[in-house]
Amino acid sequence: LMQLSVPLNFIGFVYREIRQGLTDMEEMFNLLDIRQEVKDRPGAPDLVVAQGAIRFEDVRFGYDPERQILRGVSFEVPAGKSVAIVGPSGAGKSTISRLLFRFYDLDSGRITIDGQDISEVRQESVRKSIGIVPQDTVLFNDTIRYNIRYGRPSASDEEVQKAADLAQISRFIELLPDGFDTMVGERGLKLSGGEKQRVAIARTLLKSPPILVLDEATSALDTHTEQDIQSALQLVSRHRTTLTIAHRLSTIIDADEIIVLRAGVIVERGSHRDLLQSNGLYAEMWRMQREESEAEETLRRAREAD
Ligand code: ADP
Ligand code: MG
Repeated sequence: LMQLSVPLNFIGFVYREIRQGLTDMEEMFNLLDIRQEVKDRPGAPDLVVAQGAIRFEDVRFGYDPERQILRGVSFEVPAGKSVAIVGPSGAGKSTISRLLFRFYDLDSGRITIDGQDISEVRQESVRKSIGIVPQDTVLFNDTIRYNIRYGRPSASDEEVQKAADLAQISRFIELLPDGFDTMVGERGLKLSGGEKQRVAIARTLLKSPPILVLDEATSALDTHTEQDIQSALQLVSRHRTTLTIAHRLSTIIDADEIIVLRAGVIVERGSHRDLLQSNGLYAEMWRMQREESEAEETLRRAREAD
């Protein structure tokens, strides 16, 4: 047992060290050199974003040729609207966001932004137009100011402050020993999941991209934190084309369209009301989550009564 625990600890250490310096999916993919074959065509033009309308046209994709993950996915996010993707884990939801970011090329079909095929324009210009608020933000071992400013390195201190205000994290920051100059990350102050997510929101506000991808937190945040984060997210997504991968259905009931993905196929789509009425997979997920949150509530009350 002793012999085994040493290498495992070491792997854990290396893993944390690697995670350490990364702040977003893009850098993670760069570092791991995943699918180098996603290359720009020589002389590929930049993506020109006017409105930020997204279209998936019969998208088929698998990480391995033998196993197709997305099996003919078509949907649209009209400019400035919000679409939510829900479905069981492993359905291919995060894969959709990776393909939009062009981490991989498709097996067939097309993804367009304002009518331009994203495989025909420079990758960098695609990634510049999209802001991602990931599930788990990794912070740099640096000040909280640096971590927020990363969204737009040219931003002034006032702009960093404003973004923190809007992301509802400035009150928290001002209570820290050195305020915005407090060191955070693995070797500094460790932030909670909700705090890190608000740092990511502040970053994204500074980046101010026309297109937004939100991968919502799965971990149960307390109701108060969740409400803070929700209102911050609503603020970022206002007037922006927004694709939300939702785990908590209660957060997406106002989406313009909800897409239910199962095993790489869209099985239902419509508004929250439509989907409840049609009484399929979405309605079932809705009932299950309500029961879960009622059970949690009962448990909390029992604890409080103790
Ligand atoms: P979801 O976000 O809906 O939970 P994902 O899009 O992350 O699902 O994954 C869909 C499927 O693709 C899963 O079966 C997962 O194991 C597989 N998958 C995800 N990433 C990779 C990868 N890099 N290589 C191979 N398979 C992967
Ligand atoms: Mg996922």
